Amino acid sequence: MGSRQRDGEGMRIHLRTLGCRLNQSEIETMAREFRRQGHEIVDDPALADQIIVNTCAVTEDASRASRRLVRGLNRANDDAAITVTGCYAQIAPDQIAVIPGVARVIDNGAKDRLVTAITGKEIEPFDLEPISRDTPTHLARTRAFVKVQDGCDNACTFCVTTLARGAGRSRALADVVAEIRMLTAMGYQEAVLTGVHLGSYGQDRGERDGLITLVRAILSETDIPRLRLSSLEPWDLTPEFFTLWRDPRLCPHLHLPLQSGCDATLKRMLRKTTQAQFRALIDAARTAIPDPCITTDVIAGFPGETDEEFAISEAFVRAMDFAGLHVFRYSKRPGTAAARMRGHIAEDVKQTRSARLIALGAELERRYAERYIGATRPVVWEHISGAAQEGFVNVGYTDNYIRVSALHPRVLTGLMVPAQITGYDAAKGIASVLPLIEMDMEWT
Ligand code: SF4
Repeated sequence: MGSRQRDGEGMRIHLRTLGCRLNQSEIETMAREFRRQGHEIVDDPALADQIIVNTCAVTEDASRASRRLVRGLNRANDDAAITVTGCYAQIAPDQIAVIPGVARVIDNGAKDRLVTAITGKEIEPFDLEPISRDTPTHLARTRAFVKVQDGCDNACTFCVTTLARGAGRSRALADVVAEIRMLTAMGYQEAVLTGVHLGSYGQDRGERDGLITLVRAILSETDIPRLRLSSLEPWDLTPEFFTLWRDPRLCPHLHLPLQSGCDATLKRMLRKTTQAQFRALIDAARTAIPDPCITTDVIAGFPGETDEEFAISEAFVRAMDFAGLHVFRYSKRPGTAAARMRGHIAEDVKQTRSARLIALGAELERRYAERYIGATRPVVWEHISGAAQEGFVNVGYTDNYIRVSALHPRVLTGLMVPAQITGYDAAKGIASVLPLIEMDMEWT
């Protein structure tokens, strides 16, 4: 499998990422940086001169998937130079470096300079015009993940991310605003702010309400049609935070990781919240924002979690009436305090508990989505999942994070169009909608 050239001008780059939205935003930024230097982003690894993999280590399964992906890419193209970065590369560089085809292992601290490490060229500051001209059309400009913060100063006992990503650090507000202006000029309909510990934005500079200031600046200084916040630790949010939702461009969607609904378990996790504090926060959010979509993360089978503790956690999750759950089976991570704890739970018990939470999550998600049958919500259309005689199966998300699909004669990808929700398919976890757009209607 010959390649044009491994280094220098006009390389073909294949990019892959695993894990969180932060990884996703980093890979999107790398794509823009490579393109700005005249390199081509290719979807097929077999065509690539350079392959970049942004790995994840949040669970043992994620680490295994990272290794498997790197090996698979080497089999797909044993001539390409593979660069591996991300959290798994951070915590286990030696295990990655020995995989065939791996030319470089770059840790999270040096990730921002990965493109320069490969091309030898410095990254030019954002320039609107060149980018919007040369972005390939297949990269639908729908939702962009924007990294605003990295690292974390907390020490939740199960968490390897805080070990892999280092101390909390925030991007300059002006840089974030400039990037969102550029994304708006490129036609993106939505920006999603991401970070390891998003709620701590600005705290490394001594700013208590840094995230509030940032969101206000983005909403007042850019024309991005829609702004969404990714995961927020519950203890970071002050009552003033919810005043941000006076601006309808801010999506009524909050992802607030709970991890456990039992105070005793929360204590062993070193989580800075309790049932009472979390309930008060949810009440404050629901008072300030009309029926927000509140989703969460829950761990099943944390060390020492008795049947009674699990029952308390499950009951609290149900009582909070979330709109969706991300359920994780506890995974022992090297270097974390929980890994050294006694009372690790048997795999089959973890399996049973996570299955119960997953079923509860599906029920809660159905209940939330069905509340909107008959209602009209703005949808950012993201991709086409199929076609039929009558048209294309368009898929997208409402502002309150309901996944929707519509059979329509037009390709709606990249547009934000209101749609009436007509039904919900619980098995697929998707709502059917009627886009309120005529066939020949001009829409920007
Ligand atoms: S807040 Fe806790 S769970 Fe979140 S990244 Fe920091 S240590 Fe990990």
